[in-house]
Amino acid sequence: MANLGYLQLTRGCLQACRFCSNPPTGVELTEDEMKREIDQLQEFGYDGVILTGGEPTSSPLLFPALSHARERGLYSRMITNGQRLSNHDFFRRAVDAGLSHIHVSIHSHRREVHDFITQYPGAWDHLVTTLAHVPEMGITCDINTVINTYNADHLHEVVIWLTDRFPFLRHFVWNNMDPDGNRAEENPDCIARHHEFLVSLELAMEYLHASGRTFRAERVPLCFMRRFAWASTESRKIIKEEERCIRFLDQKGFIRQLEFLHGKGSACDFCRFDPICAGMFSMAKTFDERELSPVFEDPLPVIRRVLGHEPDAALVERIRARRGRRSGSEQPSDEQRARARLRVL
Ligand code: SF4
Repeated sequence: MANLGYLQLTRGCLQACRFCSNPPTGVELTEDEMKREIDQLQEFGYDGVILTGGEPTSSPLLFPALSHARERGLYSRMITNGQRLSNHDFFRRAVDAGLSHIHVSIHSHRREVHDFITQYPGAWDHLVTTLAHVPEMGITCDINTVINTYNADHLHEVVIWLTDRFPFLRHFVWNNMDPDGNRAEENPDCIARHHEFLVSLELAMEYLHASGRTFRAERVPLCFMRRFAWASTESRKIIKEEERCIRFLDQKGFIRQLEFLHGKGSACDFCRFDPICAGMFSMAKTFDERELSPVFEDPLPVIRRVLGHEPDAALVERIRARRGRRSGSEQPSDEQRARARLRVL
């Protein structure tokens, strides 16, 4: 099991991404709190820490956190917008302090789209400079892309463009945008319906799969990625019975996430993937369950693929027992669902 803890070092950021779900709150970590959080991950037996934000390179705690994680035997990754790492010396210092892997957020290979989304002129140019530095830093790098209206039709072009120019990129992650609260509520134009990204996401996955690369998608119901269901972040957690910890710098505070379930609709009641699928995020609120369609294929090959071996009978039994399980916090009521179905699809 590879459990990773997420630690928000700051909520400050140079960029102001239109869909940001973690904008500034004014809450900052102290150095002692940061150390305690990392110590706790070690006590939980976690393998590493993912420094995030906001933008972790904006925090004075970046270098102390990298050093402290290394002292505790945890490896450090960072989710970054790539702006400050475009400075070669800064990047080198972070690597020397213990940074071993970065997840770089790029939302389009089209400069004007990325800069529009991030509301930061020059963001794309800095980011491409950062990617060019990666090979000489001797660390690995993944790509994170938030799915939204402005890239929903060219997710596949983004991966082709990136892998052409930066062939060392081996892993891609898509997060369907979180439409609830924070900056996303000010920019509802960014929220793509699932059918808007279905084709492009399929093409992107197909391309990466054919080129021997790996990928994950979060907040995407399995019926929108059924051929690559094994790449769903939530399904992998369900199947591998993993957990994750996230330390937010807002009212959510510290969360130890043991369950990965969003909303389930009528289609899910008939779907064979129900036990391994997290369902639809923000169902009946932002997204519409009428977009879901049941899958009638056997989920066992997905389980095998995620585990990399034949599952033992007890695990299959535990997964099967999840059928019909609904989230206590995210499942909308029947009333909310009925109201949502009255909306124009
Ligand atoms: S359980 Fe629901 S959301 Fe998941 S694949 Fe089946 S129909 Fe789609």
